[in-house]
Amino acid sequence: MDLVKNRYCELIKEKARELGFDDCGFTKAHELTPDKEILKDWIDHEMYGNMHYMANHFEKRTDPSKLVEGAKSVIVLLTNYTPSELQKHSDSPKIARYAFGQDYHHVIKDKLKTLFNFIKTEIYPSLDGRYFVDSAPVLERSLAVRAGLGWIGKNTHLIHKKLGSYVFISELIINLELSYNEPLKDACGGCQRCIEACPTTAIIEPRKLDARRCISYLTIENKEAIPEEFSNHMENRVFGCDICQEVCPWTWKSRPHQIDELKPKSKILELTKKEWQNLSQEQFSEIFSKSAVKRAKYSGLKRNIDFLLPKSQE
Ligand code: SF4
Ligand code: SF4
Repeated sequence: MDLVKNRYCELIKEKARELGFDDCGFTKAHELTPDKEILKDWIDHEMYGNMHYMANHFEKRTDPSKLVEGAKSVIVLLTNYTPSELQKHSDSPKIARYAFGQDYHHVIKDKLKTLFNFIKTEIYPSLDGRYFVDSAPVLERSLAVRAGLGWIGKNTHLIHKKLGSYVFISELIINLELSYNEPLKDACGGCQRCIEACPTTAIIEPRKLDARRCISYLTIENKEAIPEEFSNHMENRVFGCDICQEVCPWTWKSRPHQIDELKPKSKILELTKKEWQNLSQEQFSEIFSKSAVKRAKYSGLKRNIDFLLPKSQE
């Protein structure tokens, strides 16, 4: 039986590679401990800010077999999004690298659907399950660790030995038993670079993030005014923040991805500080129509720009 399961995994890996996924691992669908206790502590301390949905569906979030009925396995897939180029003007407000190209949710979902259909037609006709990319209560990083794809760095990101941490995690939760990978050991060692570099001291201890202090949260999920205490600590970030990944040695060797849809839109990279400052609703709609930046809406992005670049700086 193990030989059969191994063969299924090989076929799935091969197809995943063909679809453009950069790595793929397998883990059993069951309760995630001790991650469950860690999440409970984080929620109890209300570190989610106004992301109240993080406290919802706790049992499903911490056990994929409760999220998807009949689930036996989770196939975890990684997609490298390391860009080949960065924003052109050093004084322009910066956005997170994942938002340079088209919104990854759509791009990856299509590939997951193709992989799911492949398994159903070529391997297991009774296949049932669901697939997600950052779109359901799933502890994606914990699952990726269990699937042998990396470890959770002190910056709280999944770190893959070759790909680094600029990776999208997605998964298929299915009713087919497979062979499972072993988790990798943490390889952060004595490094503390991410903790020391965080401009808002959001990483309050290794692998523990107070989202209420994190620039990614403050500029995207947060729907209120950005607290004044952060005004001199935004490090020119206007949508998301990559600082704790930029300083991580594991990201330095990652190679640029080759997925056309995720390639940077040149106008996004070329925006000057002045253009950011004067960005209109029409320009926002045109420039960011396919980017994840549109999640912040014009009003949210404008709030961030004005917080960063008060009109007095014109
Ligand atoms: S994303 Fe930025 S603000 Fe958030 S923890 Fe990392 S360095 Fe700190
Ligand atoms: S910067 Fe250092 S401590 Fe932080 S995640 Fe990377 S290796 Fe780990």
